[in-house]
Amino acid sequence: MMKNGNVAEIFGCKTFNLPTMKERLPKETYKSLLKTINDGTKLDPSVADVVANAMKDWAIENGCTHYTHWFQPMTGSTAEKHDSFITPTSDKTVIMEFSGKELVMGEPDASSFPSGGLRATFEARGYTAWDPTSFVFIKDNSLYIPTSFISYTGEVLDKKTPLLRSMEAINKEAKRVLKFFGKNPTRVVSYVGPEQEYFLVDKELRNKRKDLMLTGRTLFGAMPPKGQELDDHYFGQIKERVSKFMKEVDEELWKLGVFVKTKHNEVAPAQHEIAPIFSTTNIAADHNQLTMEILKKVADRHGLYCLLHEKPYEGINGSGKHNNWSIGTSDGELLFKPGKHPLENVQFLLFLAAVIKAVDKYADILRLSVATAGNDHRLGANEAPPAIVSVYLGDQLAQVVEELKTGKHEDSVAGEFLETGIDAIPILKKDTTDRNRTSPFAFTGNRFEFRMPGSSQSISGINIVLNTILADTLGECADMLEGCSDVKSKALEIAIDLFKKHDRVIFNGNGYSDEWVAEAERRGLSNLKTTPEAMPLFKSELSLALFERHGVFTRTETTTRTDIMMEEYDKKLNIEALTMLDMAKQEILPACLKYTKFVVDNIAAKKSIGIEAAKETELAKTLNTLTEDLMDKTEKLQTAVNNTPSVDDDPFVCGTFYVSTVIPAMDELRKTADTLETMVSKEYWPFPTYTDLLYLV
Ligand code: ADP
Ligand code: MG
Repeated sequence: MMKNGNVAEIFGCKTFNLPTMKERLPKETYKSLLKTINDGTKLDPSVADVVANAMKDWAIENGCTHYTHWFQPMTGSTAEKHDSFITPTSDKTVIMEFSGKELVMGEPDASSFPSGGLRATFEARGYTAWDPTSFVFIKDNSLYIPTSFISYTGEVLDKKTPLLRSMEAINKEAKRVLKFFGKNPTRVVSYVGPEQEYFLVDKELRNKRKDLMLTGRTLFGAMPPKGQELDDHYFGQIKERVSKFMKEVDEELWKLGVFVKTKHNEVAPAQHEIAPIFSTTNIAADHNQLTMEILKKVADRHGLYCLLHEKPYEGINGSGKHNNWSIGTSDGELLFKPGKHPLENVQFLLFLAAVIKAVDKYADILRLSVATAGNDHRLGANEAPPAIVSVYLGDQLAQVVEELKTGKHEDSVAGEFLETGIDAIPILKKDTTDRNRTSPFAFTGNRFEFRMPGSSQSISGINIVLNTILADTLGECADMLEGCSDVKSKALEIAIDLFKKHDRVIFNGNGYSDEWVAEAERRGLSNLKTTPEAMPLFKSELSLALFERHGVFTRTETTTRTDIMMEEYDKKLNIEALTMLDMAKQEILPACLKYTKFVVDNIAAKKSIGIEAAKETELAKTLNTLTEDLMDKTEKLQTAVNNTPSVDDDPFVCGTFYVSTVIPAMDELRKTADTLETMVSKEYWPFPTYTDLLYLV
């Protein structure tokens, strides 16, 4: 374990970062690579060999024997295939080699990754291409090279390539707008700080539950006597075992150059959060993947298991991933920063208006970017934002927008002060962006916090959408400003017009209330409750045209991606339904039968000596009725599963059937099983209960 205070020393020690590059590369090579990293310019091919060789030497000195291209296929996790550095020599020994070509390009067999039918199996080749903007790193004696993954014919098969493309789109369109304000930064970049929620559970207990092992969530389980009603876990003291785990996670991630900063207990028992300092979206996405991986790995070393599922426990808060998103220039200007006088900051108002329009116009696409089987349990449920997309601006900005729309000026709420009532404590300036925890898309000072994403999701998809929809509306603003003599007045006019046209999406009230659902409907906002409802809209004309226009996805790429995501939903549901059947038949039913027999035997024994055992007879009857009900519900679920249309024929028809028929049958079966759990002796119950899972961490 690291000594205190050594963070600066170990930070990034497992990455080939700028200081290491500077130290190990010839000056010209370093300069050329740095230009690619900072400005996104094309990499000079002649430098690749030099860089590869330096990387290899550094990797070997640090214990590496292999290298791997590391990529993010459509599965949402990462993939790797390791090759050693060895090259045979004429005297039958080996030397360690690594060429520029091997660094820049890889050729993994792509046939087993989801492609939505993009690749015919006879042409299964895929290519990985080095992304120099994200540092290579060392893990398990391998040199990891972050890469894009594309098919032989050039279609994207991964999540990184389109993310990089969407960053290009933002760069292009934001720069067009900034030009009118007399600014010409080299680049405009999008940033993300993802807050990652997760649950910890004792590893041995987890291994006793098939549902947790196969689906990542509990499919059965009665509520424990104590839930989260006391609110005693949120920001509470961190238990020693958990604290040790967290320290090791921090350390591992720091070594990998991840800027982890914040950790705390979350609302639910055994729920926690980890958050880094924000970085460029592309790097943040790589780092978030690493964070999820390290959480799992380190947990294992501590006898724990990390649950990243959106809803591991019914009736208990789920886990999300808050995507704090902003854009900024290479000169360090954050473009969502209102400044002291937002009302007069026309450039800010225009960017704000472009965001509002983007969210309103493309609300359905934002919604579907977070649609997964896991997240369907969260969105619209009590503790998560509803499935309705709206924007929260906070009092100050809401007032600014209102004044601009109506032309009426009121005393600003800006700069209110908070009286603590204690002299020794300084008066704090009240945060005028006061966060509304119930909003799916909240302005928080210099960024927007998109709160709908699920905890297990890759953040790439979400940010592809955010970047592209904003690039789109910024592009429209730039078009309107083109050839205009008084840019400032025109920009203000455009902003006001957009505020007026899109104000239906602005909502500053309680997003969890029923009134809002009704109000949103009146405003004509969509409320897409499930993945099968939301997902088809990804291949709507609005969406196809959007991504095509900005070079993020071709029409084919959008269409195939839609199918892949829908299939993933269907397959997950299928696994869940089968796991439930398995547990019901092989574990729950036998336990209920055994326990009933125990009660019945007991009654018989008592009766043999003349004891009436009336209460036990009641119990035996109830157990019997419920067990029959369990068998009945199991059969019904089995029938539903048998009748499910094939995912291969049409994943959308299949998904809709899950929602209409299979999920209700699963819910029914669960209800009966959970009631039985509360009646059957713990000694007979086949797996750990919610109390065990949530409190024995
Ligand atoms: P909270 O839980 O109060 O919302 P946290 O401190 O847990 O806040 O997380 C906030 C996240 O937002 C951090 O990752 C932080 O680095 C990030 N963040 C701060 N400023 C920006 C910005 N301009 N753009 C993107 N992310 C930002
Ligand atoms: Mg937080």
